[in-house]
Parts: sequence; structure tokens; C-alpha cells
Amino acid sequence: MKRKAPKRTCIACGSTDEKRELVRFVRAQDGTVACDPGGKKAGRGAYVCRDSACFERARSKHLFEARLRCSLSVEDYERLEQEFSVCCSDNAAPTR
Ligand SMILES: [Zn+2]
Repeated sequence: MKRKAPKRTCIACGSTDEKRELVRFVRAQDGTVACDPGGKKAGRGAYVCRDSACFERARSKHLFEARLRCSLSVEDYERLEQEFSVCCSDNAAPTR
């Protein structure tokens, strides 16, 4: 049986991959941005490859701000980078 895997696009490099291969960041209603490894949080989302190079590119080019329509401080980015690295080191696909 064929299952259609949802595809998402990395905001940094523009490559398209299955949703579970990308790390999702989501902007909550209160404006905070967080990593969402389960892909279940509500809000505007942005996807980045499980690759620190893509995260760095998104940070240096302010792609998160553009995509999520928010402003992020240096501290926000440091927190996101930490959350992102945790997501990347966890190679297991999220359970559902
Ligand atoms: Zn990428």
C-alpha cells in the first residue's frame, strides 16, 4: 500500500523532502518561536533540513523572521540553535 508522505521545503536551501526529514519551527500565538520535532504544534511553521549549515544560513539571512513574520533576538536564536541540535541528534522519526 502506498502512503503519501507530506513534503516540505527547507527555508534555507529550498530543497524539498519528506516532512519527517526536516525540522519544524513554529511561531506560537504569543509570538514565541520554538522547535517542534513532533510537528504537532499549532501556528505558522518553517522547515529546515536536519543540517546545521541550513540553520546557520536561515539565521544569517533572517529567513525565520521573514517566514514566521516575527522578530528574533540573539538569545532567541541561541535557544533555537540548541533545540535544533537536539532535534538533529535524535535520528529516530517522531512517533505518532
Ligand atoms: Zn536545507
